[in-house]
Amino acid sequence: MSSINPNFHFRKASEPSVSELMDGVLNQNLTALSKAITLVESGLPHHRRMANELIDGLLPHAGKSHRIGITGVPGVGKSTFIESFGLQLIERGHRVAVLAIDPTSSISHGSILGDKTRMNELAAHPNAFIRPTPSGGNLGGVHRKTRESILLCEAFGFDRIIVETVGVGQSETAVHHMTDVFLLLLLSGAGDELQGIKRGIMEMADLLVIHKADGENRVKAERAMAEVKSAIRLFPTPPSGWLPEVQTLSSIEKIGFDSLFQKLDRFFNHSMNKGFFDFNRKEQSLAWMKDALGDSLFFWLENQSDFHEKWKLQEEKVLLQQKSPFSAVSEILQNYLPQ
Ligand code: GDP
Repeated sequence: MSSINPNFHFRKASEPSVSELMDGVLNQNLTALSKAITLVESGLPHHRRMANELIDGLLPHAGKSHRIGITGVPGVGKSTFIESFGLQLIERGHRVAVLAIDPTSSISHGSILGDKTRMNELAAHPNAFIRPTPSGGNLGGVHRKTRESILLCEAFGFDRIIVETVGVGQSETAVHHMTDVFLLLLLSGAGDELQGIKRGIMEMADLLVIHKADGENRVKAERAMAEVKSAIRLFPTPPSGWLPEVQTLSSIEKIGFDSLFQKLDRFFNHSMNKGFFDFNRKEQSLAWMKDALGDSLFFWLENQSDFHEKWKLQEEKVLLQQKSPFSAVSEILQNYLPQ
């Protein structure tokens, strides 16, 4: 028997309703926040609809945070830095949420925040919330989940949102597009400061931190700072008009944080006074809307009963070079779109 309303879905008794989740998040219930994030991470169509309703309802309560993007190659000390940085933000009266995008996790099945031993002290703090990278789905899907998680954390009352990513490729751009300030951690070493970091990523950074500037590394870090400073002088001025700043820092010895906090304050003053903060948030919302269109179309297509069959068929033709990807896609779409 075909169902009268194919969109109707019986909620499992254990599944909270949208209004329960909304009340929970607004009443700062951490279990509700986790469940809300699990909901936005879900790929099931009825969860997607609930997530949209939840996000729309919470939107008026979101947005009031500083969104801070942090990147750097594996081993640069991101988790050690975020733990120290996060705890100091809390000391300064803030509430801190840490989210992550790890493009490598779908390949390695690891996760930058999956390892429970990371950021123990911060994770245990009542004013902090740490969420590992969402797993599964395409990269676009992962980005959507993180964007929506940011909004949920803000509605809950976190006023400093840290979005972490591994400095290995595409995801830096995504993080840059969902945050207000972008911080790049670098290592000093053997005159090879820019090693592993693409110029494009350096150009996105508002603050560049030469990390692990302690012990024997201190002098090398100072030298690296001078080199980075002269390298970035050649970069074009970013749309914010903010000229990127460089400094050294040690998370283990906790040296350099005061100066980093001053720079962040200066950055946000600049960004807000020049109107860039609002402009950037609006631009980001419109870019998310475009992404959502692509995402939703793909999602809709994927849920058509014969889509996978048609996709596979065209995939083979593309692999055998019998068809270009464009004509393959157009042939698939012909089945669904009015001519
Ligand atoms: P991630 O992969 O970027 O998250 O890096 P981790 O935070 O896991 O750190 C990688 C290694 O660098 C660990 O052995 C840390 O103890 C070390 N490390 C992190 N921060 C510092 C620092 O400020 N100084 C020194 N000397 N080592 C650090």
